[in-house]
Amino acid sequence: MSRKPFIAGNWKMNMTVAEGTKLITELKPLVKEAKCDIALCVPAILIPAMTKAAKGSKIKIGAQNVHWAEAGAYTGEISADMLKDYGVKYVIIGHSERRQYFGDTNDTVNLRTIKALENELTPIVCVGETLEEREAGKTEDVLARQLEFGLFGIEDVKKIVIAYEPVWAIGTGKTATDEQAQETIAFIRKRLSKMFGLKDANRVRILYGGSMNAKNCKGLMAQHDIDGGLIGGASLKLDFATIVNYDK
Ligand code: PEP
Repeated sequence: MSRKPFIAGNWKMNMTVAEGTKLITELKPLVKEAKCDIALCVPAILIPAMTKAAKGSKIKIGAQNVHWAEAGAYTGEISADMLKDYGVKYVIIGHSERRQYFGDTNDTVNLRTIKALENELTPIVCVGETLEEREAGKTEDVLARQLEFGLFGIEDVKKIVIAYEPVWAIGTGKTATDEQAQETIAFIRKRLSKMFGLKDANRVRILYGGSMNAKNCKGLMAQHDIDGGLIGGASLKLDFATIVNYDK
């Protein structure tokens, strides 16, 4: 089953308009020949300017969150309509930082994912265990729960991208080994297959995220079940182009 590789950057709360425009302008010629899909998920306020900067390139601009309500009294949130206004295609949902600092749960991940799909946005749903959970042998239980509740009631799982991001590897410089990442992502695919059937599970793109960089991307991308990466720190530099061109 061939799944198109996908490299997505997560700028988190970084970059000004000038810095982001400069980086995208420099990235554009470097990613011209890329075979994979490419996205940069930027802070909401940068979406219009970065969309303009990325015009005419393979880089699609994504968001980092979406609310489940149509509109209303939800200070600080962003609606699917607002994202669609700017032609946004991808939205990260349930990143561990949203879960850790902003109260996202498997239930709100579910609501956000449903809303994104209703609006033809592609959700990049993040799952992953903490170090404590891994050391206690609970990785599979945690992931199974995140998938079961986070994707509850989803009809067409093929429209979702999953990002497996072990929390202990995010921003720490500690990457999962190729084997660890492959083994865990294969488990995720097996769970998806149980929930949605083998055929659909085999079509879901599953990314690895957690200190993926220009050096370790080749090994990770060579793994059978790893279809791409969700890149934090390295997406703020030209290294992002090296990751996008991992196959060169
Ligand atoms: C992330 O934020 O999704 C991430 C994987 O960050 P980093 O690459 O910096 O570990």
